[in-house]
Amino acid sequence: MDGFESNEGVILVSATNRPDVLDPALLRPGRFDRQVIVPLPDVKGREKILEVHMRKTIVSQDVDGKVIARGTPGFSGADIENLVNEAALYAARLGKEKVTMVDFEYAKDKVMMGAERKSMVISEQEKRITAYHEAGHALVARMLPGTDPIHKITIIPRGRALGLTQQLPIDEKHTYPRRFLLNSISILLGGRAAEELVLEDFTTGAGNDIERATDLSRKMVCDWGMSPMGPMSFGKKEEQIFLGRELAMHKDYSEETARRIDTEIGQIVSACYDTAKKILSENLQILHHLSEELIKREVLNSEDLDAIISGRALPEQEKTEDSEPIH
Ligand code: ZN
Repeated sequence: MDGFESNEGVILVSATNRPDVLDPALLRPGRFDRQVIVPLPDVKGREKILEVHMRKTIVSQDVDGKVIARGTPGFSGADIENLVNEAALYAARLGKEKVTMVDFEYAKDKVMMGAERKSMVISEQEKRITAYHEAGHALVARMLPGTDPIHKITIIPRGRALGLTQQLPIDEKHTYPRRFLLNSISILLGGRAAEELVLEDFTTGAGNDIERATDLSRKMVCDWGMSPMGPMSFGKKEEQIFLGRELAMHKDYSEETARRIDTEIGQIVSACYDTAKKILSENLQILHHLSEELIKREVLNSEDLDAIISGRALPEQEKTEDSEPIH
């Protein structure tokens, strides 16, 4: 690529995760002058990638690649490969000859939410707190319009979390409206709001929720111009090469602006917290009922949630193949 001799017929292809830090000399005409951006696969892409990985596995007739692709937004190619692998492992553990849709469903939860830790010892009191916390998230999400539907609520520990409420988007989003972000913050704070309302105390369980809610609120003010401060961006970020993590924030605004930013961030968070508390206190009976069912069943899906909200009885609990005693 020195430009002194012609290398006709030679095509050089290269890949990077950090196009932003490439030396401009590399990108001059005649060098790497064409860029193909490869984003995460969309629903069609996921279906095709799934087909490739399923070729190596014996899959039952009932497995529908379209359904799996639709239920895995945000999955990368590697995630999909992992999904097929986990499904095959699970089927093998149960002694099945073919991988079925149930195995894919199990694998999806495992890849999305981490492995279940059924052996972890949890006290009754902790279980009750977790149930109310997760019920809080779920109920706020269900009651706010325009939010992603609830996929699963569980109080079986997974990864580092004691419980999880999983939402699954219906379609792929490329931009997020302000209303959607505010609702997301309210949902994140729904767990803490439920603790405050019912248990009249706080636990450390909401730490991660609070961090994410504050972070989102900060981005709304500082990056996306979604506060009364107007369409301005505050603070330049220096990112560490290769890791893509924020290393340092350059303060490019005055002390007074800093104070206003803090106020705006605080106002967004506390308004969203009030929304969450209002929804939960208006639906307190449902919150109690939802938590009781969670303590009893440990996992609820979207149909269960609908039934509880409309006051219908839940179907009899069926024993799953791997229901081990929980301590
Ligand atoms: Zn939470």
